[in-house]
Amino acid sequence: MTDSPVWHPFTQHGLGEPIPLVTHAEGAALYTADGRRIVDAISSWWVTTHGHAHPRIMAAIAEQTTKLDQIIFAGWTHEPAEALARGLRAILPDALTRVFYSDSGSTSVEVALKMALGYFANRGEARSRILVLEHSYHGDTIGAMSVGARGVFNRAYAPLLFDVGTIPFPAAGAEQATLDALEAACRTQPAAFIVEPLLLGAGGMLNYSPQVLAAMRDICTAHGVLFIADEVMTGWGRTGTLLACEQAGVVPEILCLSKGLTGGAVPLAVTMASEGVYQAHLSQDRAAMFFHSSSYTANPIACAAALANLDVWREEPVATRIASLTARQAARLAALDHPRVSAKRQIGTVTALEIADADGGYLSALGPRLLAFFGSRDLLLRPLGNTVYVMPPYCIDDADLDAIYAAIGEACETLD
Ligand code: PLP
Repeated sequence: MTDSPVWHPFTQHGLGEPIPLVTHAEGAALYTADGRRIVDAISSWWVTTHGHAHPRIMAAIAEQTTKLDQIIFAGWTHEPAEALARGLRAILPDALTRVFYSDSGSTSVEVALKMALGYFANRGEARSRILVLEHSYHGDTIGAMSVGARGVFNRAYAPLLFDVGTIPFPAAGAEQATLDALEAACRTQPAAFIVEPLLLGAGGMLNYSPQVLAAMRDICTAHGVLFIADEVMTGWGRTGTLLACEQAGVVPEILCLSKGLTGGAVPLAVTMASEGVYQAHLSQDRAAMFFHSSSYTANPIACAAALANLDVWREEPVATRIASLTARQAARLAALDHPRVSAKRQIGTVTALEIADADGGYLSALGPRLLAFFGSRDLLLRPLGNTVYVMPPYCIDDADLDAIYAAIGEACETLD
């Protein structure tokens, strides 16, 4: 594929990495043009929840294509968007009364940030600073990058990024420092605090406790700081519950969802807002409206896919599959015993570990070698530097899980 004009994301084409051509997918497997069956151990960048090409979701997409492909969503509506909003209201916390559609995790974050600033601007309060958690990742658009960790990912774009207040990550044993820093920062009247609840994904699959999440939420509530939960990755069962926030009894003012919203089949996102956030934009004054849209907002085909996903959650044993995957992951992680493996951790369906390496960090030389090695074992496993994580679709079977962990063990043995 070296003569392809395609410029791939997060890919250094100069290194000439082979780029497999995938022709179809089913369940936890991807099939390539050269006849390989690849196990999708990271759910195609964390989107595929039930498995690829879930028949019910595929059928809903096919049916919707015969009815309505696309319609402007400013001042117009359609049944899939209306039904989906009602469906989301029915399964998500009551306090999140409003559903704003967009197309990706990053745009759901941009929307959340704009809602928070619009809320204070419309109330005539001069609050605009955003607080973030150290090591966070919220996407690659400018606002989403601004509220994410700074590093090699975004160094070149730093002049475009706005300043934020960074709260230290609540590492085990250092939780009080996080809470103290948040308390101090909240006294300066910021607009909002955005967090990845319980699990920071791209920052290295770092998890923290529900107690800390609840305590952070309480501090924000006490200071009138809007709490934005970015559940783009953690939502839809990844951490064991539909939302990670559930485990802490936390309800945010603003919630971002994408990835598993359509079961991972087609792009769609929602930013859910509290009635207070919505009401702050409600007025006879057109200048106070929420100024955000994109051409494909609430695309009917994507909404139909998400509606079918809600049916899957309602009618199939999704919770049982999540519990089973959680237990099967735990058993394999425990059994993986190698002197180079450290920092083993798990939350719900996600496991992570570190493989000892001289360099460390995202640009660790071990990372690409691991990637190539896993590829040679017909596995889609994409380490974050020397952090290897396993986040498969919920339908993965034991044989495929065994293959993943056997390859991780083998990589520890053979790669230096
Ligand atoms: N927020 C979180 C927590 C994410 O993990 C991601 C992507 O991985 C995003 C936002 C951005 O989502 P997208 O890649 O769909 O823009």
